[in-house]
Amino acid sequence: MAAPTTSRRGPGAARNMDDDNLTFETSPGVEVVSSFDQMGIKDDLLRGIYGYGFEKPSAIQQRAVLPIINGRDVIAQAQSGTGKTSMISLTVCQIVDTAVREVQALILSPTRELASQTERVMLAIGDYLNIQVHACIGGKSIGEDIRRLENGVHVVSGTPGRVCDMIKRRTLRTRAIKLLVLDEADEMLSRGFKDQIYDVYRYLPPELQVVLISATLPHEILEITSKFMTEPVRILVKRDELTLEGIKQFFVAVEKEEWKFDTLCDLYDTLTITQAVIFCNTKRKVDWLTERMRANNFTVSAMHGDMPQQERDAIMSEFRSGATRVLITTDVWARGLDVQQVSLVINYDLPNNRELYIHRIGRSGRFGRKGVAINFVRKDDIRILRDIEQYYSTQIDEMPMNVADLI
Ligand code: ADP
Ligand code: MG
Repeated sequence: MAAPTTSRRGPGAARNMDDDNLTFETSPGVEVVSSFDQMGIKDDLLRGIYGYGFEKPSAIQQRAVLPIINGRDVIAQAQSGTGKTSMISLTVCQIVDTAVREVQALILSPTRELASQTERVMLAIGDYLNIQVHACIGGKSIGEDIRRLENGVHVVSGTPGRVCDMIKRRTLRTRAIKLLVLDEADEMLSRGFKDQIYDVYRYLPPELQVVLISATLPHEILEITSKFMTEPVRILVKRDELTLEGIKQFFVAVEKEEWKFDTLCDLYDTLTITQAVIFCNTKRKVDWLTERMRANNFTVSAMHGDMPQQERDAIMSEFRSGATRVLITTDVWARGLDVQQVSLVINYDLPNNRELYIHRIGRSGRFGRKGVAINFVRKDDIRILRDIEQYYSTQIDEMPMNVADLI
């Protein structure tokens, strides 16, 4: 069924998760397979997929699962919350031969929390396969990593630093790895991580299959993919289709930095309707804002990269379970983390680049749910907000009084 060609952005033009033929620019020959049954997936995996609650593949899954399980190099882009990371889990489960107890797939993610989330989803979907997955991430015991890896696992989901370390120690043996997946690929190939990724890549077998996944894939990233990919199948989203209809975006003009705090306090009741994530640009600011909120008797939790991993884990699990509702954090939380109850994102500070904006607001509105993003803008920030609005051909209106009704 073709989507209507006009007024898709008009009022009431709700978009289905699976009816987006016009959204994607795909390489020739990419088929659209509208059910998991028709993908040639092994029975035990199908049971796991349905058992996990997936009934029908999302638009990106309908297009990218087949080329990935057929062994092609794939570059897959789709909007936040549309099932990309889940697709990694299910395709890796399909590709891995559990009779061979060696690492066959390596998934790299930019944060420890995301690498762990992927491990968890894979274990759930692969429940009937007896697949051994290990999250190889910084901040955890190296001894435990060594023990798990030497025992033999099929899949490693990790962060680049620890994975690189384990490869160099020869604890993570790479000779049977046939698939490398970079989730949040643009981040993984950006300045901070690029060298580590190439470092890992050097140790992987030459016939390697490479899959890149992200909601944002800027030109300069697509340009370097030819260095390590072979005739990749591309499934890309046009830039003006990248913001989701379901996430309403607003701004509050605060004039000066000092006004942000009162604005946030005024919004507190709205924050706790479901769950909310508040982004600041620095760890120090997260600490400062958290203290100040608490001093004013508001209950908030906080997380950033300078906290010990144990504390990060505890905060994550409290937030995932809904025990805490308001999380103040940095961009460590911007990408990939999936907590379905989050329906509100606040940019206390505007993000430092256009990609981060998409990822941050995408923490809400997961898999077609409603979401609201509120940007606090100082006078000198208005230009940045207008740039984002133009770049993504989206609309960011002044926050209405009844914003709580939209959550
Ligand atoms: P992305 O990586 O694109 O941001 P995720 O893979 O994290 O998206 O998925 C977002 C949410 O949608 C998760 O809660 C996931 O369980 C759910 N989801 C993914 N695929 C499906 C599907 N086919 N059917 C139902 N829910 C799905
Ligand atoms: Mg993801």
